[in-house]
Amino acid sequence: AAKNGGRGQFRFYAADLKDEEQERQTMLDDLRLALEAEQLELYYQPVVKIENSTVVCLEALMRWEHPERGFVSPAVFIPVAEDSDLINGLGEWALRKACETALDWPKTVRVAVNVSAVQFANPGFPAVVANVLAQTGIEPDRLELELTESVFVGDTDAAEKTFKTLKGLGVRLALDDFGTGYSSLSYLRSAPFDKIKVDRSFVTSCTQQDKNSAKIIAAIVGLSNALNMETTVEGVEAFDQLDVVKQNGARMVQGYIYARPMPAEKVAERLASGDFRIEPEGPEQFRPD
Ligand code: C2E
Ligand code: MG
Ligand code: MG
Ligand code: MG
Repeated sequence: AAKNGGRGQFRFYAADLKDEEQERQTMLDDLRLALEAEQLELYYQPVVKIENSTVVCLEALMRWEHPERGFVSPAVFIPVAEDSDLINGLGEWALRKACETALDWPKTVRVAVNVSAVQFANPGFPAVVANVLAQTGIEPDRLELELTESVFVGDTDAAEKTFKTLKGLGVRLALDDFGTGYSSLSYLRSAPFDKIKVDRSFVTSCTQQDKNSAKIIAAIVGLSNALNMETTVEGVEAFDQLDVVKQNGARMVQGYIYARPMPAEKVAERLASGDFRIEPEGPEQFRPD
């Protein structure tokens, strides 16, 4: 959903399709400059094990403060980058930066990096991952690559080969935004995922009125367990949501109720002080990033 959500955003300041195309080109140029000028940043959001409130992983999320436009959401600029080869440069930068950053963390804490389907389809991608692992020296099983269902679109043989190569490197693979994409279960047969991340939309709609969303969460957790995969539920903001996802079998959660994405320095500070635990805090967490 976030993928196509990016497109329509341009309508807010572009009057017609031609202007929209121009806007995209301008943004792409700006983004290229931002990457070169090191104006991009990674924020990190904890994934927390509910039972003991420990941080098990941090997901790297790209942040771009445009000199004139201010904050631009990755949900807007990633799809733009995906239409050019810039996505490969952006992706490699994020991968390297995240691994370097995670070297300062305790070894029990993993780092998760989002990988675009376009980047994944690039035949050079596994070599990029291998290089980053070699150059940074991070333990491969501390790196989790987050892929969406869209990696299965197109050349499935090539995708399976890439999965095998990546698993051979020892990295972990997570299926992100599960339940929103093409939602064919057939690919779970062969793809070697270590984790499923349940899309935020199931939590958002998981209310007293909508009992189906909670049941779907329970079913995904069950499926994931049966296949020996971990599950993280994304987007938990409130205590009642945390209760519902807990009751439906979730053990790991990522959401504002525990923490918003934060700069690397803040993560390092917390972890250095031996503070691996984050208690759910609810509404007082609702500050801007
Ligand atoms: P994602 O990978 O599914 O990341 C989770 C998104 O949910 C993040 O949005 C995070 O800030 C947001 N989120 C987490 N907890 C909550 C919550 O409790 N409530 C709400 N409302 N939102 C929550 P963000 O940082 O805006 O990123 C959006 C998307 O942009 C990501 O979705 C991912 O698809 C993409 N993205 C971000 N960074 C990168 C990157 O380095 N590479 C690639 N390829 N994509 C990226
Ligand atoms: Mg993700
Ligand atoms: Mg996600
Ligand atoms: Mg998403």
